[in-house]
Amino acid sequence: MPRAIVTGGAGFLGSHLCRELLSRGWDVVAIDNLLTGTLDNIDDLRALDRFEFIEHDVTEEILVDGTVDAVLHFASPASPRDYLEHPIKTLKVGSLGTHNTLGLAKATGARFLLASTSEVYGDPLVHPQREDYWGNVNPVGPRGVYDEAKRFAEAMAMAYHRAHDLDVRIVRIFNSYGPFLRQGDGRVVSNFLVQALDDKPLTVYGDGGQTRSFCYVDDEVRGILALLDSDWVGPMNIGNPDEFTVLELAQLVLELTGADSEIVFDPLPVDDPTRRRPDIGLAERVLGWRPEVDLREGLRRTYEWYRRERERGRV
Ligand code: UDP
Repeated sequence: MPRAIVTGGAGFLGSHLCRELLSRGWDVVAIDNLLTGTLDNIDDLRALDRFEFIEHDVTEEILVDGTVDAVLHFASPASPRDYLEHPIKTLKVGSLGTHNTLGLAKATGARFLLASTSEVYGDPLVHPQREDYWGNVNPVGPRGVYDEAKRFAEAMAMAYHRAHDLDVRIVRIFNSYGPFLRQGDGRVVSNFLVQALDDKPLTVYGDGGQTRSFCYVDDEVRGILALLDSDWVGPMNIGNPDEFTVLELAQLVLELTGADSEIVFDPLPVDDPTRRRPDIGLAERVLGWRPEVDLREGLRRTYEWYRRERERGRV
């Protein structure tokens, strides 16, 4: 059996990756310090022999027995609300955590996959964003803690590739969403769906004219694992190129849920990117990957999940 280490394995994307790797026959070790992840995300996995959970902060040395074939580094606060609340932990997990996980991959001869982000493009001056665009990031603004941590992590991964011939993959993830996106983590999809569920006002920041391109989690995970399997070294965008304004998203949520909520306008966070859309030409060419779940269907599935969790008393 191949064996994978997933850091951030109790988080949103990490837990989906663990589940999918297990279903593809991998043994999986999830490592998480539970800062923003939760054991609820993996409670169906913990009884499995092929799954192990280690509560650990990957900014400290990582010790794992046995063979390792892949290290997937997904540990990090990823929602603006979380990384603004934990600025130093975010910088540390992107720097020290990436160093430690690269060291683990090097010591075990494993392939390394880094969870990077569309935030490396900052507030992009080029649209849509292709992997060869270097970005427009404010290094000293509040969002810089996440953007620069991920940019540093990419640089570190490529340095390990060049200096140590480590087999590295870098996925740039664009606004993924779906079941297990924590209620209250502050991201726009979870906020709007839970606000609609509670018939509370939908909080649009700014005038809602800023755009994002939302990728349903099953598509995202399929793309990430295709990248892991591929020979592509270097960053690759995995996202859904359908672009929506935040106001359009709010209106779609109201239409799909039938909620009575009004839309209210709150202040725009500092350095909030005005537009974001992946160019996925590279992923299409190299992986033959394209997203399959459109926003309407993805929101419907995610809303159903929140409703079921609510019935179980979990959110
Ligand atoms: N946003 C919003 N209302 C919310 C949460 C977020 O209008 O309740 C906006 C936010 O300002 C940004 C977009 O939605 O323009 C996406 O925000 P999110 O925090 O989901 O992720 P980001 O893409 O900014 O990392």
